[in-house]
Amino acid sequence: MTEKILEPGSILGVLGGGQLGAMFAGAARRMGYHVAVWDPDADAPAHHLASHSFTASFSDTATRVQFAHTVHAVTFEWENVPAELCEWLEQHRRVRPSGAVLRIIQDRIDQKQFLRFSRLPVQPFTTIESPDQLAESVRKLGVPAVCKTATTGYDGKGQWILRRNSDVVDVEQALRTIAKPGLKWILEKFVNFERELSVLLVRGEEGACRVYPVVENRHERGILRGTLVPSTVSSDVAAKAADLAGQAVTALNGVGVFCVEFFQSSDGGLLINEIAPRPHNSGHYTLDACSVSQFEQQVRVVCGMPLGEARLLSPAAMVNLIGDEVRSVTSSRGFHDLLSTPGAVLHLYGKRVVRSGRKMGHVTFLADRGEVAAERARQFISRLA
Ligand code: AMP
Repeated sequence: MTEKILEPGSILGVLGGGQLGAMFAGAARRMGYHVAVWDPDADAPAHHLASHSFTASFSDTATRVQFAHTVHAVTFEWENVPAELCEWLEQHRRVRPSGAVLRIIQDRIDQKQFLRFSRLPVQPFTTIESPDQLAESVRKLGVPAVCKTATTGYDGKGQWILRRNSDVVDVEQALRTIAKPGLKWILEKFVNFERELSVLLVRGEEGACRVYPVVENRHERGILRGTLVPSTVSSDVAAKAADLAGQAVTALNGVGVFCVEFFQSSDGGLLINEIAPRPHNSGHYTLDACSVSQFEQQVRVVCGMPLGEARLLSPAAMVNLIGDEVRSVTSSRGFHDLLSTPGAVLHLYGKRVVRSGRKMGHVTFLADRGEVAAERARQFISRLA
């Protein structure tokens, strides 16, 4: 039985109010819906687009009741909102993706164990329950390795690379400074990948998936620098990545927008690094280069509408504006240079405070050929502060 489609004018609730929440709100408003944003940061970008704003802590029980009464359906913009809150809201409203899916994904250990149990390819890893276990785990797994907090990390935060055995001393010290009851870490084998790829897909209630083309990503210091679509990988690798992404989200029984990130080795082998249960930075190009963006797909799923086609209308290269880099775009000269570049589309997130490593906006370069889009992106990056 297909679910009833929420009528336009209904209020869609989103947990988290960063740029992803704001882009969701933009898509929802374009389709005639109102948006209620819950983010404890009163200055979070999505609040400015909300018809209802909630700024209490996510643990505030009075606010959860009020939020549930206000909204007709719920989604979230990142995986670090409490799964328990989603599970509670689910008893009253449609929540997509579900709290159960969020619970698996938001803990890196649970997520990797789930993928391994589902016979999907992941890098070798082990669990660390206290800093004392680090040395022994590194000895068993070998170096180089990456240690990551199991929960709440993002954009490279809460990650330490161990290049040699002697790095254990410093990393163990770093773990001790943040250790608290219940905090765990995952130690992963460092993968000498040739490329990072990701596959964005949306999966509906009935299990059908719409899969966007495989994209190629480049990270710097754990933060996404840029994305190129279509990727330059062979059609075999692209098909394999799309297939694995579909298998992973199907195994989770996920309903919503998901992004599956991969490491690709030089022989074409693929490992799943992680899954995001939401629109993803590497899918921002869909706003300008696809018939239906990842955010419209999120609106469609949460409203119970048919999924949209995942069709690429133009090759594209996306570049993030991180921290101070935004200033080199928003000077008169910067605006002039960028906005007179053919095919350049600028998105600024309206964040008032510029912080190192903070995503302030992005630019999508559209061109008839991927090489041209990539070259414009390269030139733009070389001019960034
Ligand atoms: P994550 O938060 O796991 O997505 O990590 C952010 C970025 O750090 C990834 O996109 C990679 O560029 C790098 N990274 C994370 N884990 C590994 C790993 N096991 N081996 C090599 N690079 C990694």
